[in-house]
Amino acid sequence: MPITDVTETLDPADWEAMRALAHRAVDDGFNWLQTVRDRPAWQPTPDKVIAEFHRPLPQEPQGAESAYQDFVDLVLPYPLGNVHPRFWAWYMGNGTPLGAIGDFLAAIVNPNMGGGNHVANHVESQVVDWCKEIVGLPLDSGGLLVSGGSTANLVGLTVARNTATAADVRVAGVRGLPAPLVFYASVEAHSCMQKSLELLGLGSGALRKVAVNAEYQIDLNALESVIGADRAAGLVPACVVGNAGTINTGAVDDLAALARICERHKLWFHVDGAIGAVVALAPKHRHLVAGIEEADSVALDLHKWLHVPFEAGCALVRDRGAQRATFSLTPEYLQHAARGLASGPIWFSEFGPQLSRGFRALKVWLSFKEHGLAKFGRLIDQNIAQAHELAALVRAEPTLELMAPVVLNIVCFRYHPAGVADPELSALNQELLIRLHESGIAAPSYTTLNGQYCLRAALPNHRTQSSDLRILTDAVVRIGRELSGPRT
Ligand SMILES: *Cc1c(COP(=O)(O)O)cnc(C)c1O
Repeated sequence: MPITDVTETLDPADWEAMRALAHRAVDDGFNWLQTVRDRPAWQPTPDKVIAEFHRPLPQEPQGAESAYQDFVDLVLPYPLGNVHPRFWAWYMGNGTPLGAIGDFLAAIVNPNMGGGNHVANHVESQVVDWCKEIVGLPLDSGGLLVSGGSTANLVGLTVARNTATAADVRVAGVRGLPAPLVFYASVEAHSCMQKSLELLGLGSGALRKVAVNAEYQIDLNALESVIGADRAAGLVPACVVGNAGTINTGAVDDLAALARICERHKLWFHVDGAIGAVVALAPKHRHLVAGIEEADSVALDLHKWLHVPFEAGCALVRDRGAQRATFSLTPEYLQHAARGLASGPIWFSEFGPQLSRGFRALKVWLSFKEHGLAKFGRLIDQNIAQAHELAALVRAEPTLELMAPVVLNIVCFRYHPAGVADPELSALNQELLIRLHESGIAAPSYTTLNGQYCLRAALPNHRTQSSDLRILTDAVVRIGRELSGPRT
């Protein structure tokens, strides 16, 4: 009598049908990307679509085809917009087709990148080495791929905290520190710096926000005097964070000068290069980030200006031993063996907070190989040139006002008709931005500089063409006129 095998699996009963579905997904996905310019930069998700996301937990199978159809109907039509050529909000990459294939293949191989002896660790190791090469850190530095700039900064600042004094913070916690630690960054530093210090138990009060000059760079004299005052007060200055591209205006601190200050005061030098570390690739602008190679730790984002699909960032730490001493914890069940599956020289879980980790290295590795880093460097130069073009369009239009110097690829400006002043001017620009988003024409975001609300276009966009910039300024002027009446 035949025995009926009742073993269940998640593999498809019909591989051919699954294969056909996968081919359809590739066709649908690439058609969608190829035609992105024909669609709005952004549109709201309709209420009736949102209602679909409140259906109960599916107990019974819907089937792959039907689940995929839900993706096509409910998800695909309402993207954030960052794949679009006229998306310039916040600071985001666009992704690439091969990067998407990389995410697919990473999920196919599906290794856990915490450790073990398998080839994927060599892929990540190579990608991390390439990142060291990009910023000029020695190849024997430590590093690992992380979710993005926030985590990369957290990793760097954690090592900085743990090495600031002889106290063993891992055992005694921050209560064991001889005196409160102080970290320094400009007022323009990213919010993740404060979040890191909060998570590290040092508190946001441990972050000294140093004034900036007219170029929004950290004021070096102010920095040195506050370091001196803190030391005189019995605090322990620990770390200076340099900005390689601030989120508001794209300003780059004088990194070489910060390196000298850190050397003089024996401080950890961390660089937040989420935006600008990769400017080191750009032949025409790499001089702007000179000094980054002197950092003790660097945070890079790969899902921003290098367009690797979310998520991908990289934390680099010059002192590999210090990074390992901060994060390594090897219980019995994770002991490394000399041979076999549990051997291998690279256990990334010893260099960051995560144990189980995804194979995000593959999409980076494929992207770098596909295009070569020289092309990424040219694209960065191209975006910076576009930012200057946009600034020139703003300057040429009497009702537009440039609000900050353009250094990298961020342009802050506002609609400013004659005779309108704050607070009406801010309210006018706020409504203008919302109408611009709702029009679907373009999607910049906003910021506030010296208390003045302004539109902010960040151009780490490999799909933007020069003609798109004119479309933006024309739309801003037209909507601004509609809002402010016939006055101008
Ligand atoms: C985006 C950004 C971050 C945070 O990076 P995520 O990838 O969003 O986590 C940190 N610093 C700067 C300057 C940034 O632009």
